[in-house]
Amino acid sequence: MTLVMKFGGTSVGNAAAIRQTAALIKSCQQEWGQVVVVASAMGSKPVKVTDWLLTGATAAAAGDSETVKQAAAYLRQVHYEAIDELLHPERERQTILAENQRFINHYVALCEAAEVLGEMTPRALDVIGGMGEQMAIRILAAYLRQEGQPAAAVDATELIVTDNHFQAATPLMGLTSPKTEARLRPLLTKNIIPIVTGFIGATEDGISTTLGRGGSDYSGAILGQALQAKEVWIWTDVDGVMTADPRLVSTAQSIPTLSYREVSELAYFGAQVLHPKTMRPCVENGIPLRIKNTFHPDHPGTVIVTNGVNGRGSIKAVTAIKELAMITVEGRGMMGVPGIAARTFGAVAQIGVSVLLIAQASSEQSICFVTPAKSAPAVVESLERALHEELTRRDIDRVWARPDLSIVTVVGAGMQGTPGIAGRIFTALGEHHVNVIAIAQGSSECSISLVVQTDDVAAAVQHIHRLIV
Ligand code: ADP
Ligand code: MG
Repeated sequence: MTLVMKFGGTSVGNAAAIRQTAALIKSCQQEWGQVVVVASAMGSKPVKVTDWLLTGATAAAAGDSETVKQAAAYLRQVHYEAIDELLHPERERQTILAENQRFINHYVALCEAAEVLGEMTPRALDVIGGMGEQMAIRILAAYLRQEGQPAAAVDATELIVTDNHFQAATPLMGLTSPKTEARLRPLLTKNIIPIVTGFIGATEDGISTTLGRGGSDYSGAILGQALQAKEVWIWTDVDGVMTADPRLVSTAQSIPTLSYREVSELAYFGAQVLHPKTMRPCVENGIPLRIKNTFHPDHPGTVIVTNGVNGRGSIKAVTAIKELAMITVEGRGMMGVPGIAARTFGAVAQIGVSVLLIAQASSEQSICFVTPAKSAPAVVESLERALHEELTRRDIDRVWARPDLSIVTVVGAGMQGTPGIAGRIFTALGEHHVNVIAIAQGSSECSISLVVQTDDVAAAVQHIHRLIV
C-alpha cells in the first residue's frame, strides 16, 4: 500500500520541526510499508525560504545587490543551523553542508548574472524558486538515514514532466506516471523512502519548471496519481481544513469531512491550506485526501471524500480572497447586442488574466467581473481596445475598475437544499453594516460568493462564521 505524504514549510521549518516530521515519517512507514514524502522549502512563517529566493532574484535584476546578500545570508543561516543541529559531524554533516553550499553559491551566481543583464526571466526564476525544496529534502533525507531509516533525496525534475509554462507549469501525466514509477518503485521495494521536492518539475528537455506558489500540495497529488497511491496526506500546521482561516477567526474549528467539490471551492477562493489544483488528480483517481497537523498528529484532521457529510448547519466554512478589483463594462446601448460578453471575456483571456467571479447583473446594461487588482489596469486597457467601436458609438458608456475589493465565499454542499441560507447571510451582514457589492453562486452550487470592500472582509468573515459554530 503506497501512501504519499506532503510536508509543508512549517513542518520542515527548523531542526525541531524536522525531528518531529522524521518521527512521523518513520511511524507511517511502519504502518504503510511504502511511503513517499514530498517536502516544501524550509523557513518558518512569515519569512519563507522561497520568498527570500525570489525577492533576492527580482531585486538583483533591478540592480539591488544588497537584497541578494541579505537573502544569501538568510539562506545560510536557516539551512546551516538545521544541518548543525541535526546531523552528526562523523555522519553526513559535511556532505550535506557542501551540497547546500553549492545551491547557495549557484543562487548568488545566477543573481549576479541577472544584475549584469538587468533582467530575470521566468525560466531563470523557476531554477531559483525550486532551490529551497532541493536544499530541504537533502537535509531531511540525511537525518532519516542517521536515524536508521533508509531514505533518498529525489529531485522532482526526475519525475514530474511538465509543459514549459514557467512559474505555473502543467504536468503531463502520460509522461510523468511511467517516469515516476520507474524511478521510485525500485526504492520503495527496497524500503527506501523517497524524499521528493515539492513545487518543481521539468520539461521533456529537462528544463526546470515550477507548479505555482503553494504547488507542493499539487506535487503530492501528482505523485499519488502516478503511483496509484492508496491515500495522499497533506501535513501542515493546523488541524486540517477549518471553518475559517484561524488567523482571521479565533473560534474556527476543524472540519472532519469535506467533499472534493467543497474543498475545491474553499481552496479556489483563498483557503491557503490546500492548493486548488490538488484535488483533481485525487478526485479523478478516487484517492482519499487527508489534511493533518504535524504538530498535533493524533488529531484526525480533515478527510476529503467524494460525497461529504453535511454538518449541523448547512454552511460548513467561510473563506476570503483579497486584493481584487471589479471591472464593469456598462452602457444602455449594450442591450441586445450579440457577442459583447464573448468579446469582453475574450479580451481578458487574451492578456492571460483569470476571472475569479462573474457577478449577476439584473439587466443587460452591464457586465461585471472580478480579477486580481494588479491586473485591473491591463484589463481595462485591453477592453477599451477590443470594444473601441462600441465606445466611440456610445453603445458602451464606459469600462472601469473598482479597486480595494475582496471576495468572501460561503461553502457547504447542504446549502442547496436548505431554505433561507442566503437570507441569513445577508441579514447577518446587514446588521453589521457590511455592504454587499455583488453576489454570485458557485457553479457547483455548494458555494455563494459575495464581493465586499476589503475594509469589511474581517467583519464579513467573522459574522458569517457565527452562523456555523
Ligand atoms: P504549508 O506550509 O503547510 O503548506 P500553508 O501556509 O500553505 O501551509 O497553509 C496552512 C495555513 O493556511 C494555516 O496555517 C492557516 O493560517 C491558513 N488557512 C487559511 N484558511 C484556512 C482554513 N479554512 N483552514 C485551515 N487553514 C487555513
Ligand atoms: Mg501550502
